Amino acid sequence: MKTIFYLLFKQKVVIFDINLTNLSKILGLNSHNVHNDSFDEEGNNLELFFNTIDFKHFATVVLPIATPKPYTYHIPNELIEKVQFGVRVEVQFGAGRDLYSGLVIEVTDKKPEHDTKPVLQVIDNEPIITEKQLQFWQWLASYYACTLGEVMNAALPTNMKLTSETRIVLNPEHDQDFSHLDDKEYLVAEALTIQNELTIKDIQKILNQKTVYPIVNRLLMHGVLELKEELMQKYKPKMVAYIRLKEPYASDTEGYALAAAFDLVKKSDKQTNVLLSYAQLVRQQKLIKCSDIYEKAKVDISVLRALEKKGIFEIFEQEASRIAGYDDELSDAQTVTEQQARAIAEIAESFKDKNVTLLHGVTGSGKTRVYLELINDAVLRGEQVLYLLPEIALSNQIIRRLQKFFGDNISVYHSRLNGHERVELWQQTIAGKPVILGVRSSLFLPFKNLKYIIVDEEHDPSFKQHDPNPRYNARDAAIYLANLYGAKVLLGTATPSVESYANAKMKKYGLVEMPVRVGNIEMPEIMIVDSREEMKKRTMHGNFTSRLVEELKAALARGEQAILFQNRRGYAPTMECPTCNWTSECKNCDVTLTYHKFSNSLNCHYCGYHAKIPKECPACGSKTLTIKGFGTERIEDELKILLPDAKIGRMDLDTSRSKTAHANIINDFEEKRIEILIGTQMVTKGLDFENVGLVGILSADNLLRFPDFRATERAFQLMLQVSGRAGRRHKRGRVIIQTFNVKHPILKDIIDNNYLDFFNRELLERKTFFYPPYFRLIAVSLKHKKPEVLKDASRIFTKIVKEKLGSRVSGPAVPQVERVNTYYILDYLIKIEKDLKTIALVKDIIAYATNEMQHTEGYSNVRVSVDVDPY
Ligand code: ADP
Ligand code: ZN
Ligand code: ZN
Repeated sequence: MKTIFYLLFKQKVVIFDINLTNLSKILGLNSHNVHNDSFDEEGNNLELFFNTIDFKHFATVVLPIATPKPYTYHIPNELIEKVQFGVRVEVQFGAGRDLYSGLVIEVTDKKPEHDTKPVLQVIDNEPIITEKQLQFWQWLASYYACTLGEVMNAALPTNMKLTSETRIVLNPEHDQDFSHLDDKEYLVAEALTIQNELTIKDIQKILNQKTVYPIVNRLLMHGVLELKEELMQKYKPKMVAYIRLKEPYASDTEGYALAAAFDLVKKSDKQTNVLLSYAQLVRQQKLIKCSDIYEKAKVDISVLRALEKKGIFEIFEQEASRIAGYDDELSDAQTVTEQQARAIAEIAESFKDKNVTLLHGVTGSGKTRVYLELINDAVLRGEQVLYLLPEIALSNQIIRRLQKFFGDNISVYHSRLNGHERVELWQQTIAGKPVILGVRSSLFLPFKNLKYIIVDEEHDPSFKQHDPNPRYNARDAAIYLANLYGAKVLLGTATPSVESYANAKMKKYGLVEMPVRVGNIEMPEIMIVDSREEMKKRTMHGNFTSRLVEELKAALARGEQAILFQNRRGYAPTMECPTCNWTSECKNCDVTLTYHKFSNSLNCHYCGYHAKIPKECPACGSKTLTIKGFGTERIEDELKILLPDAKIGRMDLDTSRSKTAHANIINDFEEKRIEILIGTQMVTKGLDFENVGLVGILSADNLLRFPDFRATERAFQLMLQVSGRAGRRHKRGRVIIQTFNVKHPILKDIIDNNYLDFFNRELLERKTFFYPPYFRLIAVSLKHKKPEVLKDASRIFTKIVKEKLGSRVSGPAVPQVERVNTYYILDYLIKIEKDLKTIALVKDIIAYATNEMQHTEGYSNVRVSVDVDPY
C-alpha cells in the first residue's frame, strides 16, 4: 500500500512518501497507533494524518454542525471492523484543528470526489441509533428544510455530542467509587476530584493523547461524569404538604388521647371528618398528604388550620421524591364510564382503517382514562407507547396519575432530566421500555416497537419548535414517525386545531367524540360581562368589572379557588380607541396592525403594509387614542388592593422562568396555599384542580388580537380550555368573560360550547384568505446586522422568489421585533398549494434564491431561516 503522509511537526508540514511499517519504525510507534495523534518524548504533538490514493472504505458522517451535507471520511484499515452504521466516530473538520464526534450513517466503497481525512477513532461498540431513526431525521431535514446535522443536534442527548468546547465535571450523584475504572478512566476521574472542571483539551493533556472521546464517553455513560451545561440546569425540589398528629395524640396507643381529640372537635362535622379520615389513612400509609385529606374528608385547608390551632395536628412540608422511579402503591384504574367505553371501542374500530384518530372530548370528559386503556393494550402485548404532551402541561399531576397505574413501566422524558438520566432513558427506550411520557423532543428516542403515539392537547402551539432548526411540529412529525413503525396516532383535545378537525371531516382521520363530562357534571356556566357598560357606569376597578370582583368574593366565601386569565405578559401594543373600541387593522389582511415605537407607525406583519399613527379615531373621531396592552403583573397589583386578604399567586413567564418555579406555583395552588391564581396561557394547559369554582378571563378582546391568522382559533381554544379548569370534580363551575365587544360571534360559540359553529366559520375565512388547511405556509426570514445590507441583499432574494412564485409571496415585511440579538430581520410569507410537487419546488426555489444572494459579493453572511408550517 502506498500512502502519502503529512507529518505536522511543531507546526511544520513535512510530506514524505513511505510505507506504514517504515514510518512506524522511525517514530517508534506501533503501526496500529499511527493514525492516532501522538506525542513524542518531549511532549510535542506529532500530528499525523494521511491522505491516500488507495483507501477503499469510506464512512459518511453527520457532523453536529450545519454543514449542508454529511461528510465523507476514509476508514483506516485497523478501524474497518469497528466502523458501522450508527456508531459515533471522532473526526476532524474544517480548517481549525477541532475534533468532533460525528455519526456514521453509511459505510461505502465509493470514493468521493474530494480528498478525504481519516476516521480517527471509533467511540461506540454498538450503534446508538436505528435505521428508522435515521429515516425520521432525513424526513425532518427534508420537510422542514434544514440540514441533517441540525436534526442530529436536536435529536441526540447532549452527553452524546462531544465537542472540543465540552466542559466536564464529576457527577455529584455518583458515589465516587472508582475501583471499576481502567487506568485512563481513573486518571480523568481522579483529576476531577482535584479540579472542578476539565475541558476536552485538559483531558488530552492529562492522558497524553489526542483522541479522548471514547474514554470520556465511557465515563459519561457510567454516570461518573456530567457535562457542565447539563448540571447548570438543575432544579429545586418540589415541596409537598403533609399532616401529622401532635403530642400527646401521636404516641397514643390506648386511644384515650384520640378520644379526647374527637371530643374537642365534636361540634364540627368537618373537623370530625378529618380525624376519621386521618385514622383510616394512617393504617395504609406512613405519610399523609394534606391533599389526601382534602380528597377523603372533602374539606379545605381552613379546616386543617383550625385543627392545627387546637393543637391536634401539625402541617409540615417535605421534598417530594424525584420523578424517576415509582415506589408508591399501584392502584387500579377507575372503572370506565359508559362514554369512555364507547370511545375506546370506537377508537379501536377507527384504527382498523385509519392511521390517525382524533379524540374530541370536552374538558373533564375523562380522556386520560381512555389513553390509559390504549396504553395498557400496547403494554400487554409488549409494545411501546409514546405519550406526548406540551412541555408546560407535563406536570407532576399527569405523571402521578399514570405512574399510579403503570408504575415502573413508564418513563418520563422532560427538560429537567440531567444528562445522565437522559442517556439512561435513551438506553431504556432501545431496550423496549413500554411507556414513554414526554415532551416534543421525546420523538427522537430510539423506539424499538412503537405501537401507539398519543398526542394530548394536540392543538397546542407549543408542539411547534420555533428556533433553532429543525423547526418542527411534534404533532405532525409524530404522524410521520408512527407511519415508519406502522403505529397508530391518537390526537386528543377538547379544542381541535382547525387542521386536525378538517382532516377528520374529510375522513383522512377517524373522529371520536366525548361530549359530556365525567359524572355528568355540567359544563361550566359561562357569563359574558360587558366592560364597556361598566366603563360607562364607572363601576370598573382598573381592569376588573364590579361583577368579576363580586364573583371572586363569593367564590372565596364558598371556600373555592379561582383562576384569572390574562394572555399577555408585557406589552403587545396595538392602537385602540377607548370610546368606540376601534382597532387599527390591515387593509389587505385579516390582522391587527402592531404599533412600532421605533418607527412611530402601525405595521402589518404579513404584507408589509404600514400606516401613520392616526390623529383621531377613524370611526368615531375621538382624539384620545391609546396604545393598548396590559399584563398579569398589573392585574396582580390591582387585585391586591381589591381583595387585600386573599392569597394571590401569579404564573407567567416571568414568575416561572425556571421549570421548578412553575411546578412550585402549581403545587402551591394544589395545596391551597394560593386562593387566586393569575396567569397567562400556562394556566390553561390540562391541569385538573378540583376546587376551582370560578374562572375569570380579563379581556376576551386582547385574545382576539393576536397578530396572525390564527387569532380566532387560539382565542377560542384558550377561552374554552381556561373555562374547562372550572368545576371539574364535584360541581358546576362558573366562568366570567370580560369584553368590550359582547357581540363577537366567537363568544356565543364559547357560551354554547359549540365547536362546530366556530369551525365552519373559521374554515370559510381560511379558504377566502388562502390559509391552512387549504394552503401551506412557509415563512422565510433574512437577517443581518446592518439594515442597509439586509435591505439590498433582500432585493436579490425578492426578485427571484417573486419571479418564480408570483403572488404566493408576500413581503419583505418588517417584523414586530425588528432587531433580535443585534440582527435586523425581514420576513416573507409564502402561501402554497398543498400538493407535494409544488411544495418541494418552492423549497428548491428558496434554496436557489438563498444561494444566489449569498454568492453575491458582500451578502455571504446574510442569514436565512426557513420555517415550514410556521404557526
Ligand atoms: P380531560 O382530560 O378529558 O379533561 P380528565 O381525564 O382530566 O379529563 O378527567 C376529568 C376528571 O374525571 C378527573 O378528575 C378524573 O379523575 C375523573 N375521571 C375520569 N374518568 C373517570 C372514571 N371512569 N371514573 C371516575 N372518575 C373519572
Ligand atoms: Zn397586511
Ligand atoms: Zn373611536
